[in-house]
Amino acid sequence: MISIPKTVYEAMIEHAKKGYPNEACGITGGAAPEQLNHFFPMRNADESAISYFMDPREQLEIFKKMRSLSVEMNGIFHSHVASEAYPSQKDIRLAFYPEVSYLIVSLADMKKPVLRSFKIENEQVTEEKINIE
Ligand SMILES: [Zn+2]
Repeated sequence: MISIPKTVYEAMIEHAKKGYPNEACGITGGAAPEQLNHFFPMRNADESAISYFMDPREQLEIFKKMRSLSVEMNGIFHSHVASEAYPSQKDIRLAFYPEVSYLIVSLADMKKPVLRSFKIENEQVTEEKINIE
């Protein structure tokens, strides 16, 4: 189970909506792997409705910020604009961090965004429970 403060949850949903009709992406950080206390929204360099790409330079800036806050990356966030909140084949193939949470928000129903979280290791997807505090 992972914990997400309500403000972080709301920031993720807002960032996903702002990126619509393209996918949106971002990184979370925290002092512990299951405490997703900080959200760093990022630009989707792909500018695509079916994929996302994080700009390496922007990523580096965020890693610097995380270091100054003494937190570590513990989640990778992106949105699905028309499909369910479940990793696509490409998401699974490109999941290189078995220790982080892969958070996906679905905007398929814009009025009811659905956020889910997964661990992905050796292309095995395991859903984890989210506790919004
Ligand atoms: Zn995806």
